Amino acid sequence: MDSALEAAMKRHWGYDRFLPLQREAMECVLAGRDSVVVLPTGGGKSLCYQAPALVAKGPAVVVSPLISLMKDQVDGLRERGVAAARLDSSLPEEERRRVYASLGEGGLRLLYVSPERLLMEGFLERLHSARPAFLAVDEAHCISHWGHDFRPEYRRLGLLREALPGIALHAYTATATPKVREDVALQLRLENPAVLVGSFDRPNLVYRVAPADRGRRLLREALDRHRGEAGIVYAIRRTDVDTLAAELSRLGYPAIPYHAGLPDEERRRNQERFLREEAVVMVATVAFGMGIDRPDVRFVLHAGMPKSLEHYLQESGRAGRDGLEAECLLLYSGADFLTWKALLGELEPEVHEAALQKLNEMAAYCRGTTCRHRVLVGYFGQELGGDECGACDVCLGELEVVPGARETAQKILSCVLRLKERFGADYTAQVLTGSKEQRILDNGHGSLSTYGILPEVPRQSVRDWIEQLCGQGFLVKQGEYGVLGVTPEGWALLKGKREPRLLKPAAKGARRESKAGRAGWEGVDRPLFDELRALRKRIAAERGLLAYMVFGDETLRDMARKRPVTRQAFLAVRGVGEVKAAQYGERFLALIRDHGAGGGS
Ligand code: ADP
Ligand code: ZN
Repeated sequence: MDSALEAAMKRHWGYDRFLPLQREAMECVLAGRDSVVVLPTGGGKSLCYQAPALVAKGPAVVVSPLISLMKDQVDGLRERGVAAARLDSSLPEEERRRVYASLGEGGLRLLYVSPERLLMEGFLERLHSARPAFLAVDEAHCISHWGHDFRPEYRRLGLLREALPGIALHAYTATATPKVREDVALQLRLENPAVLVGSFDRPNLVYRVAPADRGRRLLREALDRHRGEAGIVYAIRRTDVDTLAAELSRLGYPAIPYHAGLPDEERRRNQERFLREEAVVMVATVAFGMGIDRPDVRFVLHAGMPKSLEHYLQESGRAGRDGLEAECLLLYSGADFLTWKALLGELEPEVHEAALQKLNEMAAYCRGTTCRHRVLVGYFGQELGGDECGACDVCLGELEVVPGARETAQKILSCVLRLKERFGADYTAQVLTGSKEQRILDNGHGSLSTYGILPEVPRQSVRDWIEQLCGQGFLVKQGEYGVLGVTPEGWALLKGKREPRLLKPAAKGARRESKAGRAGWEGVDRPLFDELRALRKRIAAERGLLAYMVFGDETLRDMARKRPVTRQAFLAVRGVGEVKAAQYGERFLALIRDHGAGGGS
């Protein structure tokens, strides 16, 4: 590997190692081979083209879909001492002229452009004469209408190949479906591209699922665990957002709302607050999030169930981009399922079926008893190594094993048989718990031997167990109404030849810390960390920057761990490069020295 590249990485970013596939991705850029790079959020995609841009022969051009995103990237790069600029519609004419001038003089390493600008009359010729070294397309899935974020203006990027002959194109995305990947390569007319696909597991995220009936309490417990930090609470409807945000503010949490129904001005202001403030809880619909690059989002809580695992991954994936531990809690209820199902009813038949299947997968995840990480990477067709992820409610033992599961399961299966395998899960749960609902009595099911056979159990639990039995292959759901049937495995269970596993939420106090949680704070002097954060905040305010652009949390934690007092030691802190050491080193070192002298631990 190019040593100039490694030196640039160290100098401007303070990194001396590559994250998985970064090296390979950079090699493609340096070799001028087209590439499609698929890495999860937080996988370090930007460095794949930013670092090579520093050692390339000409400027690198980056196409990016969102103006706010470009601005943050360019600010961040300048802060690292990299000559970067952007061109988009929001830029004043004068500023634009300056950018053109420095491009012409060869004074730029990276130029960010919006797709609209790129395809404007005469721009590509101009670009061509600046002899760009390569072109990077960020959020490349926007070019495919198979993706969840198709943007018509991206579609025309297919022109680039002809307009800039001989210049390699590199596409970056976190969207992993093979169909999208192929479409990206096709639409951009890539030639024999290297396709690099990373692991989609995010080991630093702790996934938990719980029924929404205990939701408010769990939500507040989670928020209390993350006092002083930033996070997002997603709700399904705008009205839920408004009520929840108001309620949380009343309770003293720094909660602000965001949804498409708010006036533009308020939305803009709240988004800005989310980016700037250290402790902030954004309560939002899914309208919020695209282009939010904040790396230190410490929690993403879902007050309602999303309509697909794809959406869930996208939204929860906004947590912990910096690689430090973060929490993702999903609260679900049967009502969410029905809400979505009703909405899907309005879709055209040919898309309806697929959407319904996605909804069912989502519900199965919620009610399931399989490691959450395993299910989520399985969605991308990948497998998880090892037995326990150490970072989900299942593997952390937060769900309690129900004693006498075999007998309970047998009762459930017999009830399905007594109902002649003609009813769905909700109905079956009602019969098992002895519901007095008229429909059941009218059907004569009040006199079944399995009617009310699980009287002490909350209906929600029975409902969950049915789902768990489906997940373990003892029951199947069939047809549009999800009618339950007993499988051959289920028959074996009835004969006592199989052992099912039924789980329920554990009583309080069962919470263990995740692996990432322990490792992330190992040896960190917490009071010092808080002081470092306060200094970072002052510096950011003085310079009009976002706090993480001064130093990320992972860097501050490492600083509070290593407690460097010399410049040399300061440079050994993760994420400290020469440029920033020169700029801020003295102030941080002074604080660390003082802290030591004051007898801090
Ligand atoms: P993505 O765009 O893939 O979501 P980013 O480019 O935002 O990811 O990077 C995620 C985080 O990882 C950032 O905080 C970034 O500074 C950090 N990072 C990237 N590459 C490295 C590396 N080689 N070593 C350490 N940290 C890295
Ligand atoms: Zn797990």
